[in-house]
Amino acid sequence: MPSSAPVVLATPFKHPPVTLFDTSPTFQMALQQLRTVAGIINLDPGIAERLSVPKRSMVVGIPIRMDDGSTHTFIGYRVQHSLTSGASKGGLRYAPHVDLGEVAALAMWMTWKCGIMNLPFAGAKGGVACDPAALSLGEKERLTRRFTEEVQAIIGPRIDVMAPDMGTDEQTMAWIYDTYSMKIGYACPEIVTGKPVELGGCIGRREATGRGVVYCIRAAMEELKIALDQSTAVVQGFGNVGSVTCDELHRLGVKVTAVGDRYGAIRNLKGLDVPALLRYAADEKNKRKTVVGFPGAEEIAPADLLTTPCTILVPAAMERLITAENASRLRCRILAEGANGPTTPEADTILAGSDVYIIPDVLCNAGGVTVSYFEWVQDIQQFMWSEEDVNNELRKLMLNAFKRVRKLAIERNLTNRMAALSLGVQKVANEKAKRGLFP
Ligand code: NAD
Repeated sequence: MPSSAPVVLATPFKHPPVTLFDTSPTFQMALQQLRTVAGIINLDPGIAERLSVPKRSMVVGIPIRMDDGSTHTFIGYRVQHSLTSGASKGGLRYAPHVDLGEVAALAMWMTWKCGIMNLPFAGAKGGVACDPAALSLGEKERLTRRFTEEVQAIIGPRIDVMAPDMGTDEQTMAWIYDTYSMKIGYACPEIVTGKPVELGGCIGRREATGRGVVYCIRAAMEELKIALDQSTAVVQGFGNVGSVTCDELHRLGVKVTAVGDRYGAIRNLKGLDVPALLRYAADEKNKRKTVVGFPGAEEIAPADLLTTPCTILVPAAMERLITAENASRLRCRILAEGANGPTTPEADTILAGSDVYIIPDVLCNAGGVTVSYFEWVQDIQQFMWSEEDVNNELRKLMLNAFKRVRKLAIERNLTNRMAALSLGVQKVANEKAKRGLFP
């Protein structure tokens, strides 16, 4: 026996964690909603089981060269919840907390959303665990191109089509479009939506989610007989969805009194000067693009933002921020969910006993995927629509969905969320039943 084995020192290296679905509270939340809806619509247990499991998931390591010469391996995810209704469709998110369960939950919600809107898509979502604010433009481009390369096997204009979400934008989509087109040898704009207009993007896609949120708010206010010019709004998140929602509400005469982002929150009870705030957040010198420091407002604690009294509260940041802890302290009449999954089921139960009128995420923020559908159709047909056509069609589809949700909610005495989810789940379940089970 050798008396002394050679001593080998372990090489230290970072290991990015990868979690599976069921450990994720966000995925558990989506599952819990599905279970409740299954009871409401008396869903066939075999179909419910199929819908509870994402159809296809891919986890990829994305090694890229950082600007300082080092190598960093990011973890990326693409989850296609369902392939039943057509190509799968959903955003790509860059955020530090992204994991497989969160992406799977968001993919499932996309399936229900496309179902509610009657779009020929199923749900998907993607994400890369990274802090986009800490990456240079070059690092973001290399990350995006390498991610596209890694998931190439499961994407395609008739298979899975990406769009922007939190932390990604038109430029991200332009890089995906270019990388995919280079691989296949010809320009394929329909591989992504939310592209720059010069590359086949749809006029009005950038504003579509916020506009859709506001169409829903207007419909709710009409029903509740609340005047726009006597209303106030508080908006959490000042990115794509939050800033456009603020802009649209301000144009309609609603006083936006408080807004917040990941860096903090600000308030002006007389009403924020929204056009000035939009310029402030977009200013080159404002590197973090934050609302914090805006001269026309006082800073407030971020935790106080959601409980600020207002007519309309719009969470437009991220999931699970309205919880059992703060739900009873909301002081709004309308909760318009711009973000995906902002309200936990426990908070939902508390709010169901209050007079808060909820416009649930799967309906409220569906304007984005709706105009993404318009963009995909235009790219395939190579026939582009006017902004007027886009906005008119968007309004028509959003109001139609809003009416169908309210009708079901009233007829069956359901919350708006359960009515919306019932419509979405039922549509996909019907398709699955008609198509049958392969083989
Ligand atoms: P974005 O990256 O453009 O903006 C996100 C905003 O939220 C930023 O202002 C950020 O600072 C803020 N934020 C992040 N974490 C926060 C926190 N903990 N507290 C407060 N603010 C926080 O993202 P987006 O595209 O506007 O997406 C926002 C939400 O809307 C997400 O839930 C997304 O899934 C959903 N959504 C987006 C679209 C779309 O078309 N972009 C469509 C449907 C749904």
